[in-house]
Amino acid sequence: MIGVLGAGQLGRMLALAGYPLGQRFRFFDTVEGAVAGHLAELRVGAYDDPEALARFAEGLELVTYEFENVPVAAARSLAERVPVFPPPQALEAAQDRLAEKTFFQGLGIPTPPFYPVLTRADLLEGVERTGFPCVLKTRTLGYDGKGQQVLRGPEDVEGAWSRLGGPPLILEGFVAFERELSVLAVRGRSGELAFYPLVENHHQGGILRKSLAPAPGLTPQLQAQAEDYARRVLERLEYVGVLAIELFEVEGGLIANEMAPRVHNSGHWSLEGAETSQFENHLRAVLGLPLGSTRVRGHAAMLNLIGVRPDFARVLGVREAHLHWYGKEVRPGRKVGHVNLRADSWEEIRARLQRLEWIVSERQ
Ligand code: AMP
Repeated sequence: MIGVLGAGQLGRMLALAGYPLGQRFRFFDTVEGAVAGHLAELRVGAYDDPEALARFAEGLELVTYEFENVPVAAARSLAERVPVFPPPQALEAAQDRLAEKTFFQGLGIPTPPFYPVLTRADLLEGVERTGFPCVLKTRTLGYDGKGQQVLRGPEDVEGAWSRLGGPPLILEGFVAFERELSVLAVRGRSGELAFYPLVENHHQGGILRKSLAPAPGLTPQLQAQAEDYARRVLERLEYVGVLAIELFEVEGGLIANEMAPRVHNSGHWSLEGAETSQFENHLRAVLGLPLGSTRVRGHAAMLNLIGVRPDFARVLGVREAHLHWYGKEVRPGRKVGHVNLRADSWEEIRARLQRLEWIVSERQ
């Protein structure tokens, strides 16, 4: 039986991919009613309760996670009882934006310029160096655009400092990127590597809205650069499982923004759009099985359903649309499902996406 820390939609999709492989799952979450519990056993507890973790680990073959804010201490204490993949050092590297960017730099992976901010004086000094605009972020627990503020001029500095709740913070130079991309990569227990093609991501209000795979106009050079970055990270961390790196494309290449040591929303298209989904490949990796082909079946797209329950019949009336509904309560700004599309050309995908977006927005 596989143990999964976190029982949200990512965990649920891991389980759905694992059943054909004959796997069974046990989930751990701090929240009663987390949606992976619809499919498998759910243990509710606190990550700082060693007894709850020990009971969770009993009889498990291995533990993985779908949530990158699992406390490193919890992952390490589990690792004394049962193999934990990806390794806890991956959580450590990804949880703190300062550690993460320092880690990228140490591997020769370019990042936006960044400055640690512990005091107001650090902030003023950082702003001197980056100039405006720049981005002030909390170091931990930021996601979906939360925990960050763009500073457009000196008048924004004080407000951002107090809205983010003070230090520790990180100040980043603002990257005038051409587009946002992500690379999903997977490393098996034997060190085998596989890479999905770069994905183009579109955000709205800081939340991923849609992904296109492979990224339109993707060149072999850009793909090679992304794979090179991902390979360095995977090998340095002795990583096992799926890893996502979010990137900015600028003239001349790719800049790393952040990484997620888990399956990722920008890989959901792979459920129908790739020969092997990110969820299946994550499980193959952690189980020590051969990795599956990451080949894209034509062109694929994913549209997130955010705070809205569209008319399912109308969504499914769109050709080659596949609905993934997570079974969560609908709340504003909450990811409650996604729709995948696959087609043989971008023209077809674009036309169907437009139709889908219209169907989804009608209900908002
Ligand atoms: P993050 O939470 O770091 O992934 O940031 C969320 C979104 O904010 C990113 O997807 C970008 O659209 C934007 N963003 C973050 N950092 C920067 C930056 N240094 N320059 C420009 N845009 C940024």
